Amino acid sequence: MTTTLITGANKDLGFETARRLIAAGQTVYIGSRDAERGRRAAGQLGARMVQLDVTDDASVAAAAKAIGADGGLDVLINNAGIEERGADNSVIGAADVTADMVRHTFETNVFGTVRVLHAFLPLLERSEVPVVVNVSSGLASLTRLTTPGAPSYAYPGVAYPASKTAVNVITVQYAKAFPNMRINAVEPGFTKTDLNGNTGVQTVEQGAEIIVRMAQVGPDGPTGGYFDAEGTLPW
Ligand code: NAP
Repeated sequence: MTTTLITGANKDLGFETARRLIAAGQTVYIGSRDAERGRRAAGQLGARMVQLDVTDDASVAAAAKAIGADGGLDVLINNAGIEERGADNSVIGAADVTADMVRHTFETNVFGTVRVLHAFLPLLERSEVPVVVNVSSGLASLTRLTTPGAPSYAYPGVAYPASKTAVNVITVQYAKAFPNMRINAVEPGFTKTDLNGNTGVQTVEQGAEIIVRMAQVGPDGPTGGYFDAEGTLPW
């Protein structure tokens, strides 16, 4: 039996990923920073729930202890993420971004990912087929950000793509350090969720596709890669 933890799984892409992995027979922990929202989501899906705020050392340590005591972990999906936006849902560009905004975004997307990895590595190392999926973004691709006409080129934000590029670096470095694990970064695509004020063009079912696929990758599957539903993305 495969046991999976998804951070930020009380709604949207994380929730849909949980639904699909439960349907595939996995035991899934919904990580939620708000216990009540997490309990509600877990109840709807028949999932387990663990309170987990990726910005909080004590919360992450307690979650790792609880899941360890319950039997361990095979698959970790670092899905929790934020994109700081203006009051009118506008993306904050270079003219307006502040160091505090970047720090706030990195606190969840980057430091949160490392905090959760660090806490759960001992459990993953005890699994026979450990898998990590880091939910990145197409906006993490420096190639796309610098190629006129590429999907990300016109996006003006700074903090969010910088944080997701860092997630890609984290992915390749951990993948090299832990060759027995399958550790990959994925781009769900521009998906209609609360993250973007529901302006995305894909459904959560479409967006979750690559997350679900990479969560189920076997021991011969790729590691240290960056994928969307169509294949490999340029760094
Ligand atoms: P979302 O609707 O905003 O959901 C984000 C989830 O993360 C929520 O469950 C949220 O919990 C949780 N979260 C935020 N901060 C947290 C923290 N400190 N600790 C624990 N959980 C926290 O976003 P989404 O669109 O589903 O995004 C999921 C992932 O996909 C993110 O990493 C995002 O960057 C990535 N992504 C999204 C898109 C897109 O177009 N939607 C595209 C590319 C990549 P609360 O409910 O408590 O706020």
